Order: sequence, then C-alpha cells, then structure tokens
Amino acid sequence: MTTKHKLLQLVTKEIETCTNCELCRTRNKVVPGEGNPGAEIVWLAEGPGANEDQEGRPFVGRAGKLLDNMIKAIGYNREDVFILNTVKCRPPDNRKPTADRLLGPGKTISSRRGKIYRTEEGWNVVCSYHPAFLLRNQTAKKDAWEDLTLVKDTIKGRHEL
Ligand code: URA
Repeated sequence: MTTKHKLLQLVTKEIETCTNCELCRTRNKVVPGEGNPGAEIVWLAEGPGANEDQEGRPFVGRAGKLLDNMIKAIGYNREDVFILNTVKCRPPDNRKPTADRLLGPGKTISSRRGKIYRTEEGWNVVCSYHPAFLLRNQTAKKDAWEDLTLVKDTIKGRHEL
C-alpha cells in the first residue's frame, strides 16, 4: 500500500466519525469520496445528494452516470480519477454549503469556467458545470466539453500554463 493510500485511509476514518458541524446530525452516511489516491484528476463537487447520502458514495444517481461519461470522454474511467465533495455530509434539503471554496467565494461558475486557475499549492483548477445542471440544460454541454478538453490538454502538456 502506498503512502497516499495510507493517508487517504486515515482521512476517511476521520471523516466517518466527524461531528464537527451540524450536518452530522441529519446525515445517513458520510460521503468521503472515492477513486485512485494517486489520480491525475480530482473531481470536486458541492455536496452529497439524497442517493449519495443513502449509499455513502459520490455521484451514484443520474448525474453520476453523466459524470462517468464525461470522464470517459477524456480517456479515463471513474476508478482512475478521484471524486469528492466539498462537504462530506448531505446538507438538509440540498441547501447550498455556506463555507468558502477552493478559489474563494463570490463568483459564478459561468464566469469562472473556460480557463485554468493555479492555486497557491500548485494545483491546476478548471471550473465547470455540475452534471446535474447539464442534465437540465443541454445547451451548456458545449461549454462543458470545452472545459473537459482544457483538462485533457493540460494533462497532456498541450496547453501552455
Ligand atoms: N451532486 C454533488 O455535488 N455531489 C454528489 O456526490 C452528487 C451530486
């Protein structure tokens, strides 16, 4: 087992017993995330929905099927990447998480998408639409495809940072 595997196991254990916020009182199961601990791509979404809360796994519903297809479209399988949510427990009634995100608060996804952000830690971040949004808004799929292509080109070194 690699060091990354071991660290991930430790973090997962902590998440499973976490009572740091009120979400622990209403959750059915925690959703720590899943995938390859050494993944080149990490898919970070908002928070578990009702299906995920029941199963303890991210993206298991219809949106998850679309996410699987998006991952395949750039040459990977679900097991190759890592999929997780910002909050690990389902917010009641799917309300929006209130804390700041990876790039800070205050901007819409549509204004952030289409480019690469470099975090202080050296991560390349591409923002894009949520698969559940794409299921309801077919016209946004073209933009999502552009974002996926940007991810793929960055990994393959075809995109200048
Ligand atoms: N929506 C999310 O943001 N995360 C999931 O795991 C499922 C749906």
